[in-house]
Amino acid sequence: MRTSTPESLSRLSVLACFAHPDDEGFASGGLLAMLAAGGARVTLVCATNGDVGEISDPSLATPENLWQVRQQELRNAMAVTGIDDLRFLNYRDSGMDGADDNRHPNAYCNADAAAVVSRLAGIISETNPHVVLTHDPSGGYGHPDHKAMCAHATAAVARAADPDGAAPLLYYVCFPRDVFRRWWQEMADRGITPPFAVDAVDSLGTPDADVTTIVDVLPWVKVKLESLACHRTQLHDSGPFSQLPEDVVDMLMGTEFYQLVSPPGAADLLATL
Ligand SMILES: [Zn+2]
Repeated sequence: MRTSTPESLSRLSVLACFAHPDDEGFASGGLLAMLAAGGARVTLVCATNGDVGEISDPSLATPENLWQVRQQELRNAMAVTGIDDLRFLNYRDSGMDGADDNRHPNAYCNADAAAVVSRLAGIISETNPHVVLTHDPSGGYGHPDHKAMCAHATAAVARAADPDGAAPLLYYVCFPRDVFRRWWQEMADRGITPPFAVDAVDSLGTPDADVTTIVDVLPWVKVKLESLACHRTQLHDSGPFSQLPEDVVDMLMGTEFYQLVSPPGAADLLATL
């Protein structure tokens, strides 16, 4: 197990664990692009194939083949980002709490936690990462699959720790409430209807105080947006995000937020990038 972190990105190993195809992009796509461009070895785990997501344009996919289309969209996105080690756990995605899709036996929200943790621990053992990234406990906007992956990856990292406590740095990818507020305000100021209600702004996302680490990814915003654009079935040309001016999007997407969770007292590697 790692006991120290390398001085150069080219010797860094990173494991990113997310629930759905496209979860990697919005809040951590800039960091992933920076790491890949620096020569870091990055492995991306995606728990589900996005089977029950939206289809923005019926010419792109059918409900029957959406899972295959979204796998390819993620491969395309990661080709843009510079990541070729992509692992699907092949669960079916769940809906928000109470959705019918959550009764499906292969829904990720019904997955046997011990089985998922074992698979993730095996990938940690294989890739020996210095850094593990995953969702934060809020699930961003509370999605059960995001919360599940947070719990599973956190448990896998704990299992991977040496008896002397050496373990990868575990970071949660944050979407701070303050950032939700800024997105909301930038839209409201321009007469754009935000995708969430103003009273949701204080309950969505990561509590601001949990953020430990702010990473400037402005040089990587174009790559981040190009990668996100590969998730074509999930994008709406007339959606509220696409109505914001380019410089505002660049500004809001050019900063990413993380929480260093463990090991206790570890040096904050991402803060030094
Ligand atoms: Zn998601």
